[in-house]
Amino acid sequence: MATPPAAMSGTARSGTKLAVVGAGSVGTSLAYAALIRGSASHVALYDVNPAKAEAEVLDLAHGTQFSAAAVTVDGGGDIAAVAGADVVVITAGAKQSPGQTRLDLAGTNVRILEQLMPRLIDHAPDAVYVLVTNPCDVLTAAARKITGLPSSRIFSSGTVLDTSRLRWLLAHRAGVSVSSVHASMVGEHGDTEFPVWSGATIGPVPIREWTVDGARVFTDASLAGTAREVTQAAYKVIAGKGATNYAIGLSGARIVEALLRAENAVLPVSTVLDGQHGITGVALSLPSVVGRGGVRTVLETPMDDGEIASLHHSAETLRQSLASLGI
Ligand code: NAD
Repeated sequence: MATPPAAMSGTARSGTKLAVVGAGSVGTSLAYAALIRGSASHVALYDVNPAKAEAEVLDLAHGTQFSAAAVTVDGGGDIAAVAGADVVVITAGAKQSPGQTRLDLAGTNVRILEQLMPRLIDHAPDAVYVLVTNPCDVLTAAARKITGLPSSRIFSSGTVLDTSRLRWLLAHRAGVSVSSVHASMVGEHGDTEFPVWSGATIGPVPIREWTVDGARVFTDASLAGTAREVTQAAYKVIAGKGATNYAIGLSGARIVEALLRAENAVLPVSTVLDGQHGITGVALSLPSVVGRGGVRTVLETPMDDGEIASLHHSAETLRQSLASLGI
């Protein structure tokens, strides 16, 4: 497919290739975010629908004059587009159709991964694989089983997006910048996720002690309301526009940068756990060190007793989904 001349202003991380699988709302938003941010020097897009993939590649490539850094964009309907990628982000899959249960959707997307993963690994054997397709925790466990890759090299965006939603809400209420809010959503990327309030701070101030005009703003009731708002956020966006794409696109690009720039950034991605907080064999999100080669450490984040119980509830819910799917 088209590989127009790269823009010459700035430099993206040279010699770094990001492959995005799935050229739907999420995959194209992620590619667009990566292009604008200069997350990689080469962005390749692949989709089973060649006409859609080729049109999206052209549309993205036509804008490279204005990207922050020199970026090559290519791809199309041939899976060879992913060849040699350093990072492969998977957004391909079916969406929930009317009347379809989440579990049915999971089964459909597991079957897609069974076909897709071996072919991707043939073309990009050394890549780190990041799953975005939902249900991303269940699919992470499935993809790990299908590929046999170590959990450090196959994980999902998990609650990176949900954490961004949480911080945005808290920043707005506290009257500070989003980057001054330190709080994470953990657990399932779904209904059983929850915020770790016990460790949440604004700047160095514990969240419950934050005041606006001398009054504490974060009461137990308001915190519970904020947590609900985060968990319901996707439903609200989907009700209005049919999909969520921009914020997940940016979240995905941020994960890609942590990998390609060897940042060792702490991000709440979802990996198959191996004993953290007593949980094994289930993928869920915990703050983790993400850098060169993938997830370097899953942190045993301090939590209070209630939060530990919520984490185990989330793990149990996911374990039941995996069992129903025979994973
Ligand atoms: P979409 O329907 O717009 O795009 C999906 C694309 O995948 C389509 O273009 C389709 O042709 C392609 N596809 C299907 N099977 C394929 C295959 N075998 N190989 C290559 N491409 C294939 O959907 P979307 O809105 O982009 O959402 C994609 C996924 O991302 C969904 O599962 C959605 O639930 C999920 N999502 C996850 C998060 C998150 O935080 N994890 C956030 C938003 C959306």
